[in-house]
Amino acid sequence: MRHPFKVVIVTGVPGVGKTTVLSRLAEIARERGTRVKIVNYGTYMLETALKEGLVEDRDQLRRLPLRKQLDLQRLAARRIIEDSMEDLGGDDTLIVDTHALVRTSAGYWPGLPRHVLDELKPDMIAVIEASPEEVLARQERDKGRYRADIGGVEGIRRLMENARAASLASAVFYASTVAIIHNREGDPGAAAEELYKYIENL
Ligand code: ATP
Ligand code: AMP
Ligand code: MG
Repeated sequence: MRHPFKVVIVTGVPGVGKTTVLSRLAEIARERGTRVKIVNYGTYMLETALKEGLVEDRDQLRRLPLRKQLDLQRLAARRIIEDSMEDLGGDDTLIVDTHALVRTSAGYWPGLPRHVLDELKPDMIAVIEASPEEVLARQERDKGRYRADIGGVEGIRRLMENARAASLASAVFYASTVAIIHNREGDPGAAAEELYKYIENL
């Protein structure tokens, strides 16, 4: 049911601050001498999609035909675990920056269906949240990414509700804990501290 190392999956709607919180968590872990490996699921998918000439950036992945996204999703899970088997020992933690629900052009699509969980076998699924208004403001400030397709405050609110439910549904397969963490405006370090404490308690 588990890998030798701990596995923590970090989810949350686009722009809520997952990647930002995880860069703070990396600093905290370094200061305290804990070994964590943080990987971004979308980056694994993007690497293959770029090689195949399918997209130009990571925000185009969720617009690809679903069968293609499924291939990329499957390959990413396998590669993440292959790389981690080489790098990590029993005292270490793998942290996967990803999504429990992806808003694709063909509808909401699970980021953590059974075939992904069979590879990752997560100890914990964290859900990073903030108010939809704050998320929209973060999306708008972050000019390096395209997230307008998520659909304004209402689109974000609906995705957030359904993504929380999707995280809980995914937790059932491998008896993962679910931690809901608020990423307070202006203080991603506090969310990182909270996540770090949950990881220590696994
Ligand atoms: P995606 O799923 O699209 O990769 P993400 O959840 O990883 O999104 P980030 O890229 O980490 O989101 O953050 C989006 C923007 O919000 C960035 O500009 C970041 O600086 C900002 N941000 C993150 N956390 C906070 C916070 N607590 N307060 C204010 N701004 C924040
Ligand atoms: P991110 O940088 O986290 O927004 O990831 C970029 C893109 O990768 C997302 O918008 C999705 O299209 C895709 N992605 C990330 N994680 C998953 C997943 N678990 N399943 C399917 N697609 C994913
Ligand atoms: Mg990110």
